[in-house]
Amino acid sequence: MKRPLIVQKFGGTSVGSVERIHNAAEHVIRAKTSGKQVVVVVSAMSGETNRLVELAKQIDKVPNVRELDVLLSTGEQISMALLSMTLSKLGHAAVSLTGGQARITTNNNHNNATISHIDTSVIDDYLAQDKIVIVAGFQGINDIGDITTLGRGGSDTTAVALAGALNAQECQIFTDVDGVYSCDPRIVSKAQKLDTIDFPTMHEMAHKGAKVLHLPCVAYAWKHQVPLRVLSSFEDGEGTLVAGIESKQGISGLAIRKQMVALTVLAEHADNIDKQRKMLGVADGHWVTDSTYKRLLVGADCCDKLRMVIDDKVEATQDVALLTLVGANTKEQASQYQQLLNLSDISVLHFCEDKHSITLVLEPGTIDKAANVLHDNYIIASESVLREEKQVHLG
Ligand code: ADP
Ligand code: ASP
Ligand code: MG
Repeated sequence: MKRPLIVQKFGGTSVGSVERIHNAAEHVIRAKTSGKQVVVVVSAMSGETNRLVELAKQIDKVPNVRELDVLLSTGEQISMALLSMTLSKLGHAAVSLTGGQARITTNNNHNNATISHIDTSVIDDYLAQDKIVIVAGFQGINDIGDITTLGRGGSDTTAVALAGALNAQECQIFTDVDGVYSCDPRIVSKAQKLDTIDFPTMHEMAHKGAKVLHLPCVAYAWKHQVPLRVLSSFEDGEGTLVAGIESKQGISGLAIRKQMVALTVLAEHADNIDKQRKMLGVADGHWVTDSTYKRLLVGADCCDKLRMVIDDKVEATQDVALLTLVGANTKEQASQYQQLLNLSDISVLHFCEDKHSITLVLEPGTIDKAANVLHDNYIIASESVLREEKQVHLG
C-alpha cells in the first residue's frame, strides 16, 4: 500500500548554512522515519538570490529576462544538492531534481511565471525506490525547455503545487518565524501568532505584502484545498494552519509593503501606462487617483524596467511604503486611521480602498511606527474587548 506523503519546504534562512541544512535534514528524517514519503522543496541559501540579482544588475540595470532566470535558478540548485548530500551522509537515500527534471512546466512569463502542469512520473519513480526527493523551488521550464522562475518568494508555490499534484497529506512551509502573525512580528512587537488563518484573510495579507507566504501559493492551496501549514525550522511547534473560508468580522491583520515607488502621471495617460505595465509583466501595480493626476504604486525592483518605457510621462517619483488593514472596508475607517496617525505625527499621503482592505500610502520612514500604532488600536484593543466580553458572559 502507498504510504502517506508530505511536502516540506525550507526557505532561505532554513538552508542558510551547512548547519541549517543539517537541521532541515533532521526535520525531513523525522517525517521519513515516522512512515511517510517525503518530497522536499528548497529555496536558495539566504542572500543568494539577491547576490545573483546584484551581479546581473552590474552588467545591465534591466537584465535580459531569459538569462536572468538561468542565473537565478542556480541558487536553489546549490541548496538542493547540499541537502541531498547531507541526507545521504546521514544514511537516507535522497535525490535532487531541478524544476525541469521534476517536470514542472510553466507559462513563458520569465521572472514571474505560473506553473501550468506537473508530470509527477519522475518523482513517483524515485519515491517508489524509497528515496527522499528534493526539488529546487521557484523554477520550472516552459514549453520550449527554457528555464523560468516564479517570482520572488516562489518556492512556497512550488511546494503547494507539488503537494496538490502528489495528493499530499499536508504541505509544510518551514521558515524563520513560528507561524503567521497578525502583522510582521519583526516590525510589530505585539503581533499575535495565529493558530489558524482562513484562506480569504491569508490571501489578502499575502496580496498586500505579508511575504510569509507567496501569493500564488495561497491562491493555489485555496483553490485545490491543499492542507497548508507554516512552521518554524528553528523551534518545535504546531505553527499556523491555513484553512477554511470563514473570515472573522473586522480587522484581522495588517500587511506591510516596503520599497515601493509612487509614479505620478497625468490621469489621461493612465490607461495606456497600465497596458504597458501589464505587457512588461510588472504584475502588481495599484492606482491612486487625484483629480488631474494618478499615481501608480509599484515595487522599486520593477521601477527601472517600467521607466524605460514610460519615463517621458512620469511627472514625479516618490519612495513610499504601504500599510494595509485587512478586513477594513469603509471610508469612515480610513479617516479614523488618518486622525490616529496624525496624533503620532505621521501623515498619510494617500488611501487605496479595496473590497476587503484599506491601504495607507506612507513615507517610508514612518511605516514601522504607523504599523505599531494601528496594531495596538485595532488588533490588541479589539482582542481585549473580546476578552472582557467573554469574562462578563462567563460571570
Ligand atoms: P523564507 O525565506 O523562509 O521563505 P520569508 O522571508 O520569505 O522566509 O518569509 C518569512 C518572513 O515573513 C518573516 O521573517 C517575517 O519577517 C515576514 N512576515 C511578514 N508578514 C508576516 C506575518 N503576518 N506573519 C509572519 N511573518 C511575516
Ligand atoms: N530564492 C527565491 C527568492 O529569494 C525564491 C524563494 O526564496 O522562495 O525570492
Ligand atoms: Mg519566502
